[in-house]
Amino acid sequence: MEILHVSAECYPVAKVGGLGDVVGALPKYQYEAGSIAKVVMPAYRTAFRENGQHQFELVHQGGLWVGHDWYHFNVWKESANVLGFDLYQVDIPGLLDTAGVYGYLNDTERFLAFQVAVLDWLNEWQHQPDVIHCHDHHTSLIPFLTQYGYKYKRLKDIPTVLTIHNAQYQGQFGWDKLYLIPSFDLWKSGMLDWNGAINPLAAAIKTCWHFNTVSPSYMEELFHSANGLESLLSAERGKARGILNGIDDKVWNPSKDPMIAAKYGIRDVVKGKQANKAALCETFELDPELPLFVFIGRLVGDKGADLLPEIIGRALAEHPRKLNFLVLGSGDAHTEWMLQQTRAYADEHFNVYIGYNEALSHQLYAGADYLLMPSRVEPCGLNQMYAMRYGTIPIVRATGGLIDTVTDFGDEGGTGIRFIHASAGDVLHAISRALELYGTKTKFSKVRKTAMQRDHSWDQAAQQYIDLYTSLK
Ligand code: ADP
Repeated sequence: MEILHVSAECYPVAKVGGLGDVVGALPKYQYEAGSIAKVVMPAYRTAFRENGQHQFELVHQGGLWVGHDWYHFNVWKESANVLGFDLYQVDIPGLLDTAGVYGYLNDTERFLAFQVAVLDWLNEWQHQPDVIHCHDHHTSLIPFLTQYGYKYKRLKDIPTVLTIHNAQYQGQFGWDKLYLIPSFDLWKSGMLDWNGAINPLAAAIKTCWHFNTVSPSYMEELFHSANGLESLLSAERGKARGILNGIDDKVWNPSKDPMIAAKYGIRDVVKGKQANKAALCETFELDPELPLFVFIGRLVGDKGADLLPEIIGRALAEHPRKLNFLVLGSGDAHTEWMLQQTRAYADEHFNVYIGYNEALSHQLYAGADYLLMPSRVEPCGLNQMYAMRYGTIPIVRATGGLIDTVTDFGDEGGTGIRFIHASAGDVLHAISRALELYGTKTKFSKVRKTAMQRDHSWDQAAQQYIDLYTSLK
């Protein structure tokens, strides 16, 4: 079976969040399970492309219109297969040759052009895939266009699968931009529409052969709360399922991780984590004798990041000289500013790194005792799984994928701490429980070891996806 993943992100080529991790790992495990998995993504000007260490061969050339503007495009294939799967990159100078992935004023045009280029290339490719697997709204017009685009009739019988990594983001734009979409059967215009706008995610939910979310609990949540798509998802639930993400245990392995200060496994976890904590505390001027609570992620409301300044301020006041906090992230300017203000009076008990830093994230998972995730929305969440693998106990709000992956230590086989509401009060209560647990060394050690032993590898999920594709043929 040959699978083509179409995505805006893929680790290590370009990653902003969990989407990149998933598309960088799933194809690798599918390859290992005996399928041929390929990824096609935009050729941004990231270090992976620019550092001259990778060879690319030109496999296709074409051109496309974006409104009145004509763009030339190339499709490149990474020739050394360094990632464990075939990587293709669509280069559209003037649109996709950006330093970053998202956040440009013409994102709608950029990702539409990407999808059209992928379809044009597939249309002419001798070697067509058995399944086209689209990820999130940036690739969500592909199922619609393979069904109804006049130009793409050759692709009509290739099953399309959509994975919804986050339904909050739907990529909607006004009908005045209809001209961006290649010509299609106009009787089917309604398939593009949701609440008076062209909504790519909704269009894919309507027209793909099957869709899934990245955890079963998130699937259930979406039927009640999906940023406006609830009724559509309920209507289409017959072709929906939840498949829990895994983690790439080759990249995220504390006994082999080259990015951390000291490598360790379950046997020498105490010593290993101490060494990593000491290194981290030295860099960030924190007290290595105290438990270290960290937050890693986008500083946005969905992650509950706006609660952090209050949580940190109150926890330091309620438990003076009893704990440290370290935050790694970037996002809302106000939250960034509030965290920097909090830093000003927290002395050696709190520090913050504003920005994106992959190596530092590994160091935090390795050096921390607890990871905070007060998420309002968490489709799956990878951080808590990385944390558990590195012996860091996750403190999570019981929502979405966090429900499916973290058991409270009060329950049998507990691996973390769960709380109900995304409120400072609930998180502070969870922090008090964490401090108490930290004080009872044998119990703390048992929870940590149970967390490290949890199997979150991709093997099972990779097989579930293959079974899903097989059911569509
Ligand atoms: P989301 O995709 O919603 O942001 P996930 O939990 O699915 O959340 O994935 C987040 C991924 O991004 C994890 O690999 C996490 O370590 C990483 N990450 C988030 N913010 C940062 C940052 N500032 N620096 C380094 N890695 C980060």
